[in-house]
Order: sequence, then structure tokens, then C-alpha cells
Amino acid sequence: MSSSAESNTSRRLDTPVQYLKGVGPQRAPVLSRLELHTVMDVLFCFPRDYQDMSCLRTVDQFAEGELLSVCGTVDEVDLQNTGPGRSLLGALINADGQYLRAVWFNQPFMRDRLPQGRTVVLSGKARLSGGRWEMAHPRVELVSEEDSPPAAGRILPVYPLTDGLNQGQMRRITTAVVDECTALVEEVFPGEFLEKYDLMPIHEALPQIHFPSNDELLQRAKFRFIYQELLVLQLALALRRQHLTTDLRAPALVATAKIDSRIERLFPFDLTAGQRAAIGEIAADMGRETPMNRLLQGDVGSGKTAVAVYAMLLAVVHGRQAALMSPTEVLARQHYRTLSELLRDGNVRCALMTGTLTAAQRKQALEEVAAGEVDLVIGTQAMASEQLEFADLGLVVIDEQHKFGVRQRATLRGAGLDPHYLVMTATPIPRTVAMTLFGDLDVSTLRDSPPGRQQVRTYVAADEQRDQWWEFFCRKLREGRQGYVVAPRVEAADNASSLDESFESLANGPLEAFRLGYIHGRMNPKEKDEAMESFRRGETQVLVATSVVEVGVDVPNATVMTIESGERFGLAQLHQLRGRVRRGGFPGFVCVFAQPTSDESRERLNAFAASTDGFELAEIDFRLRGPGDLFGIRQHGLPPLRIADLQRDAEILDRARQDARTIVAEDAGLEDERFARLRRMVLVRYGQALEISDVG
Ligand code: ADP
Ligand code: MG
Repeated sequence: MSSSAESNTSRRLDTPVQYLKGVGPQRAPVLSRLELHTVMDVLFCFPRDYQDMSCLRTVDQFAEGELLSVCGTVDEVDLQNTGPGRSLLGALINADGQYLRAVWFNQPFMRDRLPQGRTVVLSGKARLSGGRWEMAHPRVELVSEEDSPPAAGRILPVYPLTDGLNQGQMRRITTAVVDECTALVEEVFPGEFLEKYDLMPIHEALPQIHFPSNDELLQRAKFRFIYQELLVLQLALALRRQHLTTDLRAPALVATAKIDSRIERLFPFDLTAGQRAAIGEIAADMGRETPMNRLLQGDVGSGKTAVAVYAMLLAVVHGRQAALMSPTEVLARQHYRTLSELLRDGNVRCALMTGTLTAAQRKQALEEVAAGEVDLVIGTQAMASEQLEFADLGLVVIDEQHKFGVRQRATLRGAGLDPHYLVMTATPIPRTVAMTLFGDLDVSTLRDSPPGRQQVRTYVAADEQRDQWWEFFCRKLREGRQGYVVAPRVEAADNASSLDESFESLANGPLEAFRLGYIHGRMNPKEKDEAMESFRRGETQVLVATSVVEVGVDVPNATVMTIESGERFGLAQLHQLRGRVRRGGFPGFVCVFAQPTSDESRERLNAFAASTDGFELAEIDFRLRGPGDLFGIRQHGLPPLRIADLQRDAEILDRARQDARTIVAEDAGLEDERFARLRRMVLVRYGQALEISDVG
């Protein structure tokens, strides 16, 4: 590493990068394209990868099929045209007097990256070809002058780059910053904490993550930063949870045996054991004077609505109001209808708050809600933005929470006491994601489904099987069942027209003998409602739809579904769609026509056909999508993770979560002096997103 610059005494973490050696006013704008504005940014811009010079080999140490690196100079490069748009680039590399060949097919531009006489490191797999070692498409890295020959045994960082900045320059910049500025960074963890959890202190971890001495130390440094990131996140969630449960006051709505039997009698079926257990947990929460914050998760069709209805009636019995928020208008109406039917003999008053209301109706509804003349309010997300004032709100239920951001939860408030919250999701979420997105919630899970539920058969079919499938589909319709045909949403603008097209070709083709209806996201609410209604009543036999039917729609007589262009749907979405034909006492059938475009989409479809367990599919989906900010936690209103990966780091996440809960249980506001820095970090990063800035 370079010796420290003369000026290091004046360095601060917020010093702009242009004052760094090797940057200056010319290169500063280049760095700012990478969001590197200050010394601190550079220090915390971790390598995206490493080049492990410690496994550098000589040619006589090569073994076939093993991943290895070799250092040599570029001796000769030749580029041949092998056909229109095709080429073969070969480079002869001299590695200490022994030669090997590197080849690239159809990548003529690689020639510019192999200047003759330069020292390079090639990484890849080698094989013997005609007595000479050959590497196809190896990764190439130019070895910078002062690095050459690269010291064996070193692990070099590989940074994200941009035009006008090469790896060697970036390494020189970070070397200087790490040397000069590491000492300026404050340790966030108290000393005994570092010891207890065996964490590498920051002043060791920063140099090690940039320029590791060996793999073991690199792993320890990475662990420290991953743990830190996840702990900060989990502390934020724990603080929020603490805040929601202890600082707020809710009405205690106790479910006595008498109340319980009064509510249960309303249902036209016996509750399943799972529903009872969830109701038990919910009733216990609602019986307390602090707000419930509970997530109810259960696979599609597991009967979450009944549980929610129970909770709402529990509020109403105590003279409080309850609100139910749905992600779509279609679903809100369906809930309204279900509730109105269930309650038709009683004196519970329901109101529907959706986009279809006229101005006058809306005004009236708002007044009635404010005056307490309405007990149950059912609506869409729009409810949260309305001037909705409840007279006495006791419970808020949010259906299909995964469609909402974290923050929207807190938007419905009554005057005075805070309501209880019940959040439902039918997209089983991989455990680690749930712990993050819903880390501030308690969780109830419905694992069983209502009795008599038949299986769904799933077929992934090729075009040749269309006739056969439509024949089957029509037979089911003739037996009195109904069906869906789902096509993906194309470009927003073509949405209607492309659906029109499939509709026309079905109506004049395989389904010409039947009554068809259609629904898509861009129809107005009234049209959507009419389409849904006539399908529910059985007036239309087949509903041709975009994935608007994905969430929650419940028409038990519908048992067959055709999904077109299945490769365009995600696994969770396919599973949700399938849930539409698994509702009543008839077996369901789904046929997906697809042209898989990648291994991933093929695997996704195979998994879909192989399993009907939403929880299992969620884990598979998670795995197939690979690392990254899956389900976009950002999309849920949280800042993205920088170094941790929820899938790879599941174990660390578990630990961080336990530790966070332990810490917050002992020190609710993180007020202890030792936690001051950690607390500041939590608030800076998550204070706004999680509305915890006022904690403590
Ligand atoms: P989801 O969990 O997907 O929201 P729903 O609440 O819509 O599922 O329930 C799916 C279907 O199962 C509905 O038609 C509902 O009436 C029915 N159902 C719910 N609970 C029971 C039960 N305990 N016994 C029989 N049918 C039930
Ligand atoms: Mg539902």
C-alpha cells in the first residue's frame, strides 16, 4: 500500500473526493457517477468481487476443469472471421516461459483488452487441446505497472467501475483512503459486544474488506459488515415494534365465551383448527390495551377472510368500528358482498368505500363513518388517502399486504385510541423476507385448508396440445363449471387491445359455444364490477382476464383455467392464479401454455407444475431469482441492503434478529450510552421509512 500522504492530518470523512491524491477536479465527476462524493463514500464502497491471486498457478500446476488463475504476458493476438457476425479471437500467453492459449468466440472487442506485451491475469477453467492448455472465455485483468508481477498470495479487490476509471486507478484511490482515513471511522459496537459476538473491530474490518490478507480474514470482515447491516435493520424493526406495542393505547376488546359463540354461529361452516388457532391468537392480542400488530399468512384459499371477519365482529360487538382495506376494487366488492350476506339478519351496518361512489354517495358515507352510524367499512387503498374520520375505530384489517408498502399500515387512525392491526397475505413469503418486511409484526399462519377442498392438477403444455386442452376445458363448461383464460398484461397501452384480440379469437374459436366475459385492469371500476358480477352469477361461463383476477377472487364454481404466455408470470403470481380454481368442492385444472425463454423460466414452470404448496414455491422462487434485492424491499418502503443478501445470509439474519430483540427488551429506547452510535445509525437509516424517529 502507498505511504500516507502528507496532508492526512486535515482529512475528514466528509472531505470531498476531489482532494484525494489520484482524483483531483478532473476525476471527481467520474467518481460522482458511482455516487462516490466523499472520502466516507469511498471507504464504504466495498469491492463487488475479489481476484484471488492466492490461487495463482503456473502452467505445470494446471488441472483440467478446475477454476484457476494464471499470470502471464500477452505474446500474440489474432482475430479470425469465421462467418457472418462470427469470429474467433485467440491470444497466446507467455506464463513464465510456458505458453497457453486463450480463446473467445464472437467477442472481437476483447482484442482491445489484450495489448501485446502487457501482463494480465486470466481466470477460468482450462483444458488440454492438442497438447496445449487452453482457456475459453477467461476473465481478463490487466495487471497495473506497479502491481506487476502481482504478489502471489494477495487477494485483490474488484470495484464497480465507470467510463474513465479503471481498476488500477480505483485500487490506488481506495488504498490511499483506507490508509489515511480508517482511523477516522468510529466503532458503532460497544467493546464487550464485539467480544461477545466475535466481531472484527471496524479498524481491522475496513482494511480487510478492501485488501484482505487472506480468505479467512476477508470472511470475518464481510461477516462483520453483513451482521452490522442486518442488526441495524432488525433494531429498527424491533424499535418500531416496541413503539407500536408499548407507546400506543388501543381499546381492550375481550372475546368472552358468549361473544365467541355468537360470532361463530354466523359462519355457514365449521372453522378449521387452523382458523381457530389464528382466531385465538388474534383475540388474545385484541383483548389487550396495546394495539395488535399481527400478520396472518396462509396459502391461497386457506380461509383467511373468515378469520378477519371474526376479528372485525369482535370489534363491532364491543361497539367499535372496523375497517377492511383491499388492494383492488374487485376484491373490496367481493368482501363487501360476503360480509353483507353473512350479516344480513343482524343489525351490523356495512359501508363500501371505493372509487365507484358518486361525490354525493362518498360525502354521505364519510359522514356516516364519522358519526359512528356505520360499523364496518370496506374499501380499497384509496380509503387511506380519503378524509376518513372514524368515530371509534377499533380494528383495521389489511388484505393482501404484500401489495402495500410498510408505511401504509399506519395511515388509518381514529380519534383517541389507536386501532388494532391485522394484516393478511396470501403470498407466502420466504421466511427471511417476512422477517424483514414484517419484522415488526407477530405472525399467525394458516397451514391447513378447509375440508373437502379438492386438488388442482397443473399442466405445462406445448402448442400441439391446445386442441386437446380446449376440448377438456369445454367439457368442464358443459358439465356446468366455469373457467378463466388468463393472458399477461402486455404494454400498458396495448392492454385492452391485446386482450380484445385473445377474446375475439376465443369467441370465434374454441369457446364459440359459450358465454364469455372479460376483465382487465384498465376498465373503469363499474365495468369491472359488472364483469365480475355476471361471472359470479354464472351468466358468463368464461372470464377472459389479465392478472387482475390474481388476487383474492372467489368464485367456487370456476374450476378450469388456461394461462397463456406462462413464462411471463412470476411463480407467486402463477400460484395465486391457480388459487382461483381451488375454491369449492370440485377438482381444479390449470393448463399453462408457455415458451420458456431461459433455464430460470423453465425451472419456474416445472416447480409450478410439481408443487401446490405456496410456502414451498415461495422458497423455490426466492432461490431461482438468486441474490439481490428480491421482492424489492425498497419497493416496500425500506432502503435497499448494501452488502447483506437475505437469501445467502439467512443465518446471520436470524442471529441479528434475536440479538436485536434481546437488546431492545433490555433497553427499549437504546438509551444506554454504549448504544448511542448504533442508535444514531438506526435512526439515520430507517428513522423515516419506519417512522421511528420519535422513539425514545
Ligand atoms: P383466502 O385465504 O385465499 O383469502 P378465502 O377466505 O377467500 O381464502 O376462503 C376461500 C373459500 O373457502 C371461501 O369460499 C370460503 O367461504 C371457504 N371457507 C373458508 N373457511 C372455511 C371452512 N372452515 N369450511 C369450509 N369452507 C371455508
Ligand atoms: Mg383472500
